[in-house]
Amino acid sequence: TREIRLASYPAGLPTAANFELATTPVPPLKQGEVLVKNLWMSVDPYMRGRMVNRESYIPPFQIGKALDGGAVGEVIESSSPRLKVGDVVLHQFGWREHVVATDSAFHLIDTRLAPPQAWLGAIGMPGMTAWTGLTRIARAQPGETVFVSAASGAVGTIAVQIAKILGCRVVASVGSEEKAELARTLGADAVINYRSARDLTAALHMAAPEGIDVYFENVGGSHLEAALNLLKPNGRVALCGMIEQYNATEAPRGPANLGLAIVKRLRLEGFIVSDHWGHYPEFVKAMAGWLAAGKIQTRDTIREGLAAAPDAFIGLFRGENTGKMLVKLA
Ligand code: NDP
Repeated sequence: TREIRLASYPAGLPTAANFELATTPVPPLKQGEVLVKNLWMSVDPYMRGRMVNRESYIPPFQIGKALDGGAVGEVIESSSPRLKVGDVVLHQFGWREHVVATDSAFHLIDTRLAPPQAWLGAIGMPGMTAWTGLTRIARAQPGETVFVSAASGAVGTIAVQIAKILGCRVVASVGSEEKAELARTLGADAVINYRSARDLTAALHMAAPEGIDVYFENVGGSHLEAALNLLKPNGRVALCGMIEQYNATEAPRGPANLGLAIVKRLRLEGFIVSDHWGHYPEFVKAMAGWLAAGKIQTRDTIREGLAAAPDAFIGLFRGENTGKMLVKLA
């Protein structure tokens, strides 16, 4: 079988040379283990943070070892009483075609609720992130104005739609006209193309003349600065990600106006979705209902084959995805 290993830690934007495609034998099964053939794997921006050799909330990837991350696969051999051949499972052994591991490492998914790949997107980690940020961190209320950055991505597309379901007015920021059109289709009331907007604060002011109550932060830098300018008193910011900074080789520019957080009595709260996993069943129930009712639409950008995974990952930082970036393995 084949797997992708980290060849070197990237400096700046990763390149193909930072990855290595390797062939490795499939070990025989021990009691309690299963052999899973991966169908889909996820590439996510947070993986860039694991390509830096430093301590963080999750350990760094090791040079010469297979990368890992969210994946969905099918059990093709089983020595476990808990999982049988044909079961579809969610797990963390992405970046490879097959995996052998103990059954407790796999989470059985119900493909009647959503198709296998959706468990890496809308009803998986990114969807859970959007839901957590809006309902548990920012606590968005009906009638409020919510600003979402990277709004056409995996987390953003779901955040826009959940905010609409919650009864909010939504302003979305995206990087192209095509993505702006998508954001409108998903229900955004106003859209900013941050690449063509000369002044983000002015653009946000046009989109939300009365100001914003909540900012769902995915980008950092000038987006956070514009949001701070437009936040109303007692506004809230769910600090989810700062993708603008992940490949920075110099100290990134911070918002120059952070002092407004004091003047306006703002609440800025960072969060990591894995801390909220206890609420995943609650989220799955809600999301399955929204999907079944057609209240949430999903979008995927699909790359084919394990060898395409590094490029799919790098593409996240070039805005090559609309909705969830996925790699189809089988
Ligand atoms: P996306 O699907 O949104 O993919 C990345 C998108 O970000 C791109 O398509 C691009 O869209 C945009 N982007 C890339 N570089 C820049 C830049 N320099 N400035 C502005 N936009 C940029 O990824 P996810 O939905 O998976 O993740 C979104 C954010 O949420 C990330 O910051 C991620 O780290 C964070 N996150 C945090 C979690 C947590 O637990 N806190 C969990 C999951 C994700 P465009 O064309 O519009 O520029």
